[in-house]
Amino acid sequence: MFPAGASPRVDRAADAQPEERPDLLVVGLGPAGASAAAAAASAGCRVLAVDRRRRIGEPVQCAEFVSSAFSMEEFSWEGIATQRIVRMVTAVQEERPRVSEDFRGRMICRSAFDQALARRAAAAGAHIRLGVAVCEVRADGGVRLSSGALIRPRALVGADGPRSRVGAAIGQSNRQLVAARQFTVGLRQPYEATDIFLSPAYPGGYAWLFPKGSAANLGVGVDFHRRDRLKPLLWDLHARLAANARVQAAPPSSTTGGLIPVGGRLRAIGALGAVAAVLAGDAAGLTHPVTGAGIEAAVYSGVLAGRAVASWLAGHCNALREYENDLSDLYDPAYARALRRRRELLRGGGPAAEALWRGWIASPEYWADAAGPSPDAAAPPA
Ligand SMILES: Cc1cc2nc3c(=O)[nH]c(=O)nc-3n(C[C@H](O)[C@H](O)[C@H](O)COP(=O)(O)OP(=O)(O)OC[C@H]3O[C@@H](n4cnc5c(N)ncnc54)[C@H](O)[C@@H]3O)c2cc1C
Repeated sequence: MFPAGASPRVDRAADAQPEERPDLLVVGLGPAGASAAAAAASAGCRVLAVDRRRRIGEPVQCAEFVSSAFSMEEFSWEGIATQRIVRMVTAVQEERPRVSEDFRGRMICRSAFDQALARRAAAAGAHIRLGVAVCEVRADGGVRLSSGALIRPRALVGADGPRSRVGAAIGQSNRQLVAARQFTVGLRQPYEATDIFLSPAYPGGYAWLFPKGSAANLGVGVDFHRRDRLKPLLWDLHARLAANARVQAAPPSSTTGGLIPVGGRLRAIGALGAVAAVLAGDAAGLTHPVTGAGIEAAVYSGVLAGRAVASWLAGHCNALREYENDLSDLYDPAYARALRRRRELLRGGGPAAEALWRGWIASPEYWADAAGPSPDAAAPPA
């Protein structure tokens, strides 16, 4: 349930009033929504934030890696970071794995992370309601909840993930998706690298082994249209790694999965009648088109979205346009390169090892083009 020490403003679906008029309604309490709610509430807005989940961050649908470049003000990783990562090892088909020392980071307990962010939002004054889904986003900006309540906010933040209802209402939907499936498996020995497996068997995606103490997240992602292959691919990878004494042969302790937007950034601002509608995180397509990493962008965009809405509500009519411009500055250069590499990989038949390597962020070739290497290397792997 909601973490210990949470604000008493947390309530249940049954407590909902028939019609409510907050300044801001935040849909979704993942990293983007919780960050937006905290930022807007800190700026003095009356914020209502809802999530269809009864327990924030659960079930976990994530490989739980964040880059060491990811930092947040006044945030402690204690109880959230589970282990350090000091390198990335990329296996391209059957070739000898290549080691890259530049991809440091940490594994996190994603449910604890999401709960900590939601706790910050509640502490800032946001009113949080769990176990309530948004069923309808109307053209006049009214939002119908599964509890039956009609919310009439002055502004709306859509942080409701890859298949955002708020995004759909303003004509912005993620059209290119990777479908992923993941096991938690036992590790045979402690490990401090993220392992990436590239193969034509994973079209539009890749497989990963990310260690977390005595266990690891073992997953596969492929283009959404090939998702029927995920189950056998993951079992096959598990069997191979068990045969190589990398992971325990025992059946995995849990299975999860989900969708990852990989088509690039969407327009993140719109209007529903007089109501401002703003997207953040996966709902805005803010996941790296090659790696699928999105936690960091969810937090950063959420903070910016919350501040922009607060500023717009205070009468600064350019605030939303500035939010859109900020996202463009922050993400478009890196995503443009990633989209280019992704297109190159998907073009034609099964790519050779060389093409697979060139399409991956750890290869120098990924960063090379007519304009020369780019400084947009900040995108963390996932
Ligand atoms: C298998 C997998 C592995 C991944 N691994 C990594 C990784 O290692 N590192 C990394 O950086 N990124 C990773 N990602 C991507 C990362 O998880 C996302 O980018 C991140 O969660 C985006 O945060 P968000 O807040 O935008 O959306 P989400 O975390 O998806 O949160 C959206 C919230 O909205 C709620 N919601 C949705 N619809 C409604 C509705 N109608 N009404 C009410 N609530 C609603 C959901 O319940 C959810 O809580 C992975 C993704 C997947 C699927």
